[in-house]
Amino acid sequence: MDYLPLFTRVSGSHCIVVGGGTVALRKAGALVRAGARVTAVAPEVCDELKALCRDSGGAVRERAFTDDDLDQAMLVIAATDDTDVNREVSEAAQSRQILVNVVDQPELCTVILPSIVDRSPLIIAVSSGGRSPVLARLLRAKLESTIPASYGKLTELVGQFRDQVRKRIPDFNQRRDFWERILQGPVAELMFAGRRDAASDMLEEELRDARPTPRGEVYLVGAGPGDPDLLTFKALRLMQKADVVLHDRLVAPQIVDLCRKDAEYIYVGKARSNHTMPQDDINSLLVKLAKEGKRVLRLKGGDPFIFGRGGEELAGLAEERIPFQVVPGITAAAGCASYSGIPLTHRDYAQSVRFVTGHLKDNTMNLPWQELVHKQQTIVFYMGLQGLDIICREMIAHGREPETPIALIQQGTTPNHKVLVGTLANMPALVAQEEVAAPTLIIVGEVVKLREQLAWYETPQQEAISKATPTQDTP
Ligand code: SAH
Repeated sequence: MDYLPLFTRVSGSHCIVVGGGTVALRKAGALVRAGARVTAVAPEVCDELKALCRDSGGAVRERAFTDDDLDQAMLVIAATDDTDVNREVSEAAQSRQILVNVVDQPELCTVILPSIVDRSPLIIAVSSGGRSPVLARLLRAKLESTIPASYGKLTELVGQFRDQVRKRIPDFNQRRDFWERILQGPVAELMFAGRRDAASDMLEEELRDARPTPRGEVYLVGAGPGDPDLLTFKALRLMQKADVVLHDRLVAPQIVDLCRKDAEYIYVGKARSNHTMPQDDINSLLVKLAKEGKRVLRLKGGDPFIFGRGGEELAGLAEERIPFQVVPGITAAAGCASYSGIPLTHRDYAQSVRFVTGHLKDNTMNLPWQELVHKQQTIVFYMGLQGLDIICREMIAHGREPETPIALIQQGTTPNHKVLVGTLANMPALVAQEEVAAPTLIIVGEVVKLREQLAWYETPQQEAISKATPTQDTP
């Protein structure tokens, strides 16, 4: 994070705008709307800006900028088209520790003004850290169109009840539940329909009836194989609702970051043969937290019910009659296959697909090999890297062709996604020459061959072609 977002009270404070044209006018307008007293400094100041400054309780100085203009100022905005003047203002302000913004020159700024969606008192600010104001503006336009104007009025109403609610419901978690119910229920709908009095009456009624009933629940959520875009809407909604998040190594930090910021985070580990927290402890922790009335998110890589021990985690909850929801996720097999151009089934090559664990126990793998060697079948091995030699050897020994294609996908769907393709006969040697980083998935079957045709964008010729003919709308 390059900048710390802050909302600053400027009401009644002196703010300086250096510049006298339309850009200066726009900036001054924003300051005045927030209650600042604005003084404009420039050899020529347009009439509209003059009037604005005077009405705000500020002044107009029709001359060049000098250091003294910053006396008593809390913020200065340089909005001239002269880069030397802008630099001078920035340096003068910084030497006095006064906040400074220079229009279109982020390197001279100590503060930047975000794009805003104004539903006062609700304000949403969007910033690209000065890198792409256009992108920030586009995003703002998107938000503008999805957030009804009445959100401002709703915020106002809720603000009026804040103290009352705090007195009536002293417990933080219960109070938050109450507000969530209000903000997503009929009270909000009445506000959106413009019926303020009815909304206010209903809020009062709800508050009278509010009962302290702590009731925890657990969300067992599949976070997909790595790419945050592969989360489901439901996963994201519950991630933003949970009070406590239990996550492990398989869930990428970018995904954990999408959970509620003020939630409590508990890392429960799970590196291969180095379980930070034993499974039994995780199971009982879920029960304990839910019984405290918390909304507990158990975030799992891929799908919770595919080699995810989801069933075990739920058993304890079911026994204690604790409510839970399970949210499916995209399992590694589906994610890795799609992102590698390998269809798991195919009319001509594979009529079935089988997900198998290649986890080693005491350095052996006890699998029904006979069932895994049918030609028209795709086998996906989870947790198979350590046992790759055994997998290849046993499959050949039980009758699968040594030339059967096999792919090893490393950190599928993430920016480190890498695919190694070989045959059952040569894959162990190929992998031995590479540095492979976990997690990895192994796909065995004729379908692996299709990658050559389907992942055309990764072949060298294609790279040459796309370099030679840039697409039309390349910026
Ligand atoms: N519940 C998970 C699987 C957990 S078992 C799911 O449905 O995907 C852990 C194994 O999943 C890893 O050892 C690896 O084989 C596989 N895996 C998970 N994410 C992966 C990824 N991004 N790329 C490759 N393999 C992955």
